[in-house]
Amino acid sequence: MTSATGETSMAFSDPDLIVVAGGAGFIGSHLCDRLLSEGNQVLCLDNLQTSRASNLRLLEGRDGFTFVEADIVLPLPDAVMSQAHRITRVYNLACAASPPQYQADPEHTMLTNVVGTNHLLRLAERSGARFLLTSTSEVYGDPEVHPQIEGYRGWVNCTGPRACYDEGKRAAEALAFDYVRTKRAAVRVARIFNTYGPQMHPDDGRVVSNLICQALSGRDITIYGDGSQTRSFCYVSDMVDALIRLMESDIDGSEPVNLGNPVELTVGDLAERVIAMTGTSGDIIYQPLPQDDPRRRRPDIARAREQLGWSPQVSIEEGLERTCAWFAAELGSVRELAAEAAE
Ligand code: UDP
Repeated sequence: MTSATGETSMAFSDPDLIVVAGGAGFIGSHLCDRLLSEGNQVLCLDNLQTSRASNLRLLEGRDGFTFVEADIVLPLPDAVMSQAHRITRVYNLACAASPPQYQADPEHTMLTNVVGTNHLLRLAERSGARFLLTSTSEVYGDPEVHPQIEGYRGWVNCTGPRACYDEGKRAAEALAFDYVRTKRAAVRVARIFNTYGPQMHPDDGRVVSNLICQALSGRDITIYGDGSQTRSFCYVSDMVDALIRLMESDIDGSEPVNLGNPVELTVGDLAERVIAMTGTSGDIIYQPLPQDDPRRRRPDIARAREQLGWSPQVSIEEGLERTCAWFAAELGSVRELAAEAAE
């Protein structure tokens, strides 16, 4: 490669690089794993705010994997910017996603979505890379339209405790689509619905991890409200498959795509399944429903089916079995380590 000044550079012979911001988190670590398995070079950027150190340990040492500890709210470090010429894809999964965690530091949540997304969009612009934003079903708020289609504009409380996340993601979408309109970057926007599976943080506060960890340790099962609210749960391998398909698709970057499993369950149903699967002796206890907790949520995935040829493959029964087995092993090794430390 010869530059405008006549100098010869080897830079462009470096292999392509995929950036995964939030790559040490739950979905992000599965995404890094899959991209590495397919022979890609992956640069994982994470501030380790909500990730599990063990997720990172599964990736470190793998061929093609680089980890950079950084917070996307701050200007991206040289370790990332110096690789801009190699970067062909930027996945943005960087944000706390569980209500207790994103509400713990709401200012940081909002800035992660707005300032952080802008930093990554600028990186994509500079690299000429394609950018994928992981947005959320929370952009629909407590929806009046059911199931939720991408054209529904949502019913979000912009003054409530969920607003830092919901409005932050809505602003991130606005930014991403402005980059498309002004032809600054090629963008894909995924609206992710509830996702679960191995490598969730046991303490992250979400319903699947809470219920399974409570059941496996014989503690009481916490249901918020009366348990009649619904969610639709997607197993993580299906979600990763959808994200890669979306990134690699020719889908017009001016429209978001719902990604999730349309099988809808009440929280009460979910608790019963977990109780039956684990045979726990714990009781169900009812706690107050958090403010602005959506009553119903189910994705309409017609767009993903038609344009990505994607639909979830892992049933809720199979996904819960795998997740329970993983948490059982995980909690067992935590207990063993605690016992060893006490000896
Ligand atoms: N929930 C529950 N018990 C828990 C945790 C959550 O009943 O221990 C409820 C929560 O109020 C919500 C649903 O389960 O109605 C899903 O909550 P989660 O935090 O997993 O995700 P959300 O979809 O609300 O972002």
